[in-house]
Amino acid sequence: MTKINEPLYVAISLDIDPDANNAVKGRYDALSSPVEQGAVRIEACKRGLQKILELLDIFDINATLFYEARTAQMLVADGVDLPKLSERHEVSCHSLKHEDYLGKVSGVPMEEASIEESITKAKEILEKIFGRETRGFRAPYTRINQAVVNVLERLGFQYDSSETVALGTEWKGCPFLLEKFDADLLELALPTFPDSKGKKMSSYLWAIFEGRRVSSDYIDATLRARETAKGGLFIFSIHPWHLYVDCRGKPFHEEQATQNLEHLEYILSRLKQMQGVQIIRQDAYLDHWLLS
Ligand SMILES: [Zn+2]
Repeated sequence: MTKINEPLYVAISLDIDPDANNAVKGRYDALSSPVEQGAVRIEACKRGLQKILELLDIFDINATLFYEARTAQMLVADGVDLPKLSERHEVSCHSLKHEDYLGKVSGVPMEEASIEESITKAKEILEKIFGRETRGFRAPYTRINQAVVNVLERLGFQYDSSETVALGTEWKGCPFLLEKFDADLLELALPTFPDSKGKKMSSYLWAIFEGRRVSSDYIDATLRARETAKGGLFIFSIHPWHLYVDCRGKPFHEEQATQNLEHLEYILSRLKQMQGVQIIRQDAYLDHWLLS
């Protein structure tokens, strides 16, 4: 089937997890940096989430929200009306407590049974808070393995969105089956792509907030994808907390926080106005793709 008349689809996804979270040696769950303090903080996440959802309303954009269940519970306990704020958006799962399933940093890989226990609990918590089904999953640190995929299949998830794949002649942004895990689970992968100098970059916007990238890098990449990946999905990802604290948990100066917001606003407004680009929720894209 030809995709020539199709737009490039763009998804705005949020990984809603604790401020400056990090995996910790010897334990499954993540803590906020500096991890020595043993704390889980959500102040910056709360502020960033409220701000981003405001912007999405202003730009009339429906997004996909990957909630870490613990963070969702903490936000609700903090008085945030998450179901109302998330109404127009897709609610997906980003684990229970940001577990390091593979044990890459913790040094303690999780058994399939404990992965199943924690994702089951996460799904239950989210479905109870939001009163709707969660179809999508993104793993903490975007790391999955056979055990995680087995669990996602058993729990009835429709898609995973943790894998990172290079956009190019081999892959044009379309969903694919996770065959390498012998699974029927669909993958909505995160893209990597070369910048204008040929250097590899990802679609996570944190590099802007850390001063490593500029907004135009992402706009240029979208414009290129618009030519080469018609009908495909280009997924952007944002951690709400990263608007206000850096990856070590240090608060940005107010001036930089304002700039971070301006960068995000600029990107959203450019994407919204771009000809041949349609912004869509990940679940809506999947429905569209399955029907076509
Ligand atoms: Zn995360």
